[in-house]
Amino acid sequence: MTQETLALHHGYNQEHTGAMAVPLYQTTAYDFGSAETAANRFALKELGPIYTRLNNPTTEIFENRFAAVEGGEAALATSSGQAAIFFSIANLAEAGDNIIVAKKVYGGSTTLLTHTLKRFGIVAKTFDSDNADDLEPLIDSKTKAIFFESLSNPQIAIPNIEKIVQIANKHNIISICDNTVATPILFKPFEYGIDVVVHSTSKYTTGQGLALGGILVARNGLNDKLIGNELYPQFNEPDESYHGLVYADLPFPLFTLRARLSLLRDIGATPAPFNSWLLIQGLETLHVRIKQHSLNALEVASYLSSHPKVKKVSYPGLKGDEQNDRANKYFKDGLTSGLLSFEVEGFETAKNILDSTKIFSVVTNIGDSKSIITHPASTTHMQVPADELEASGIKQGLIRLSIGLENPSDLIEDLKQAIN
Ligand SMILES: *Cc1c(COP(=O)(O)O)cnc(C)c1O
Repeated sequence: MTQETLALHHGYNQEHTGAMAVPLYQTTAYDFGSAETAANRFALKELGPIYTRLNNPTTEIFENRFAAVEGGEAALATSSGQAAIFFSIANLAEAGDNIIVAKKVYGGSTTLLTHTLKRFGIVAKTFDSDNADDLEPLIDSKTKAIFFESLSNPQIAIPNIEKIVQIANKHNIISICDNTVATPILFKPFEYGIDVVVHSTSKYTTGQGLALGGILVARNGLNDKLIGNELYPQFNEPDESYHGLVYADLPFPLFTLRARLSLLRDIGATPAPFNSWLLIQGLETLHVRIKQHSLNALEVASYLSSHPKVKKVSYPGLKGDEQNDRANKYFKDGLTSGLLSFEVEGFETAKNILDSTKIFSVVTNIGDSKSIITHPASTTHMQVPADELEASGIKQGLIRLSIGLENPSDLIEDLKQAIN
């Protein structure tokens, strides 16, 4: 079945009442009915609801449907994208291990993976994902994961995906791709052999800025890479915290199962059922929205690229952009989301443009149906020293737009009056 149909129907058959909308199970716990059922659920002889920290019927529909749309085997939803990213690493690495992270990733991923995890004894090394020429020499016997973004936020960079996956597979290491900005509609990580996909569903999936969420998705057949792999003893040796359970002995998708039974159980970064319900509504229309976001952004990018006061426009979907070949190679119809950036002369000019727009909101978020404008040098990247900022490609006059679903001609008019 195609993604569009799966997004609307997968995992729900109008059970019990015929309700067309997926029901919201706003509950913390579940009546097992009998002592035997309770025992079977705890012993994993049957998989069923136990307590909402571990699973919930509304969240489960969201997980199964998202996994189907992404083309993966199983998913685990979390309370935020940050939690999903933390779980993806904590499921593979422990104190004494290391991970390799792309230099161009979301700011929150940089702080989590390179600073916070270091205090848990997991060290991150960074690589240049544009080419991945420096990746392989960073690998050692303690390397447990390679992490990158398919369309990086905020740089809007597309990595050399085949090369990253090929190196990860050569060393039997799990590859993790953050597919938040691209969404499962524009980029399909599993078709390139990526092992695990993470998302912040707080962006295009919810779509209207309604709910925080995150999700981990595992590819079909990932068990084969985990079972017997000496890099990952946690899947192959008895788990003391689960009365000696050996995950590798179980007939289930192991990556998400262990993340649920060990990490979600103990850390509790569980989505509220209501947020899962909102995210289901978003997922149902994601394929329509992300295409329109991309088409609108393309019109705006094309307008800006002809403006005399605009020094540079970055939008991979735009013909002539340095990354346009990669966009056409990896992305559905060469569409690359609603994110674009452009450069004007200096810090003050950029700030004035932010204050002069009428439709764009000054917000540090992306993926809302309403358009957003940000000036990284005075907000998200304010703490970064000016020379480092220049080196990372973030100029004083750089403006980032998250193009929404308004009519693009109105957005262009608004930018026109703000830039002049
Ligand atoms: C927003 C974002 C995150 C963090 O997600 P939250 O839901 O805000 O925790 C991670 N990765 C990318 C690419 C993001 O844009």
